[in-house]
Amino acid sequence: MNENVQVFVEQFNESTIDCQKFCFMARGKEFQEEAVQKLVALKQQASDLKAELIASCDEQSANLLLSLEEAIEALCYELRMWIALKEDDPNSAWDCLISAQSAMLTAIQSHSAVSHLEGYVQRLHFLEKILFPPQTFLSPGIVIEESKCSICGEEYGECDHLKGKPYMGRICAKEITKAKIRECSLVEEPANRHARILRFTDGGITRDVMTWRIITETPNEIVSD
Ligand SMILES: [Zn+2]
Repeated sequence: MNENVQVFVEQFNESTIDCQKFCFMARGKEFQEEAVQKLVALKQQASDLKAELIASCDEQSANLLLSLEEAIEALCYELRMWIALKEDDPNSAWDCLISAQSAMLTAIQSHSAVSHLEGYVQRLHFLEKILFPPQTFLSPGIVIEESKCSICGEEYGECDHLKGKPYMGRICAKEITKAKIRECSLVEEPANRHARILRFTDGGITRDVMTWRIITETPNEIVSD
């Protein structure tokens, strides 16, 4: 392994263990905010090192750095979730948790070096179940008319890149550029857990699904995304 990468992996292990100390509701908000700042700086270091590795065409190490970047991002989002809960903003806290789960999925897909963090993935799913009430999700039924590969820009399926696989420090995604929405269904296990019902009306009273508080203003939107 490249020496700079090895040094960074050690720093990653130390810093993330240190910041995980603050991933509890009981910890002081000021320490959680400080940990977020440290992780933002650590992620920048990872990005800078990844850029060097890409320049020297070291694909394995660039993918490893992508994996670490995403794991740092996940931890940052978890801390932001605890902060948002303390600020009485559970809707933002939910979005932070779902973003943390997505970042960890990318981290695991990018390199086997973080496969030992499977337990952390489980923790994020466990937090979803114990911190938030059950949610109702929305899933659009769409007909994809045009999509492109995020790595090379070719029409998706025409190149050799596969979505969810890492290529020189970047994860491949199928970018939908043109689609028709056919229907929208209520589902329990959606592809996108950000898309959910935010409020409901019963007997003339509209409530926030998350907080149960009564909403008096006219809603402009019914789902977040
Ligand atoms: Zn491609």
